[in-house]
Amino acid sequence: MNSSIKKQIIEALKDQKEIFGDDLFEQKPRKINVVAEKIDTYMEEENLFPVEKEDWEKALTLELLESLICNCTECKLHEGRNKFVFGTGNPNADVMVIGEGPGAEEDKQGLPFVGRAGKLLTDVLKAINFSREEVYIVNVVKCRPPGNRTPLPDEMDTCLPYLKKQIALIKPKVILCLGLTAARALLKKRDSLTNMRGKVFEFENAKVMVTYHTAALLRNPHWKRPCWEDLQKFRKLYDELIDG
Ligand code: URA
Repeated sequence: MNSSIKKQIIEALKDQKEIFGDDLFEQKPRKINVVAEKIDTYMEEENLFPVEKEDWEKALTLELLESLICNCTECKLHEGRNKFVFGTGNPNADVMVIGEGPGAEEDKQGLPFVGRAGKLLTDVLKAINFSREEVYIVNVVKCRPPGNRTPLPDEMDTCLPYLKKQIALIKPKVILCLGLTAARALLKKRDSLTNMRGKVFEFENAKVMVTYHTAALLRNPHWKRPCWEDLQKFRKLYDELIDG
């Protein structure tokens, strides 16, 4: 959406909030962004204010998309980038795994989940009978946050359209979000991981489940058992969708 229209809508929504208070909106400013995004989608679908799409938005393959976005400078994260970490795996995957952002090893190699957390991810996938090659592995942000900090909301918002485009091209049937950051970024929910685990959400045409990040499992092995329970539910969901 044209950013000045978006700003005007956000301002109008803020005004409404001032008049009607919390009857209309929760206190959190984020809620306003969620409403703005819904309006965004509506306006796009209805083609109310046609905006010329950027080239990457029109890409019909992952290769083309990668070549068009790999030199991105839209947020500050590009400043410390060694390599852009687009994602890897089967371009026709039914299963997509979403992490938070590249770490040092990922930034060095330009591939997601190749460090310690990545090795554990490979084992975790194997435990539920998926190979790395048959799934698609990606992150919310494509450039490494300094010192592996959590990506900032504006960094995630800037990078999210790329992830959405990847999902639109791959069309996975099921998505596994690793950790709260990936889950919140994709699902636009403020819930805790505890509340989101075990539930099935929807994103576009995919079913989404949430579990612990493998990096968190390395720090706290006590989470391995609940994670294992989540993964079994995830595999069951996948089997039901494929067989059904
Ligand atoms: N953690 C992530 O979220 N992504 C990676 O690629 C590596 C570690």
